[in-house]
Amino acid sequence: MVAEVEVPWARLGPRVEWKTGTSGAWSFGRHYAPEIATIVRAAAETAPTLVQNTLIITEGWRAGVPQASLHPACKAVDIRAIDDAMRPGAIVGEDDEQKLLYGARWATRLREKLGTDYDVVFGPPNHLNHIHIERDVKRRPYRPVKEGE
Ligand SMILES: [Zn+2]
Repeated sequence: MVAEVEVPWARLGPRVEWKTGTSGAWSFGRHYAPEIATIVRAAAETAPTLVQNTLIITEGWRAGVPQASLHPACKAVDIRAIDDAMRPGAIVGEDDEQKLLYGARWATRLREKLGTDYDVVFGPPNHLNHIHIERDVKRRPYRPVKEGE
């Protein structure tokens, strides 16, 4: 008889999901590259407390020009940060000020963990509801072309 393996849930970190629905994240095979795995694992390992202990990737591929972001090249993801308190993946905090602080600390931990080959973008005005992370070995200046990039 084979004993059932006990799954150490507490050590697995947050559950990771791609956002679903009509405004969900588009993912392609190219997203399952080591650089995206590195980003998602780093985000999971450095995450603050998240609603339903779930990390939500809110954007993968998006049409656009590569000069703006690396979403069109499948080398960037957005991860839910400050959002409705009931939404899975939203940062848990007492108020918006505390959530902003936790989000900023999360982004700092991500920058430290990922190093200079990656861009981590979080903060006002356009990056409060998500953290944008991309692998950018050429270290181009990050230039979002529209809100939500
Ligand atoms: Zn983005």
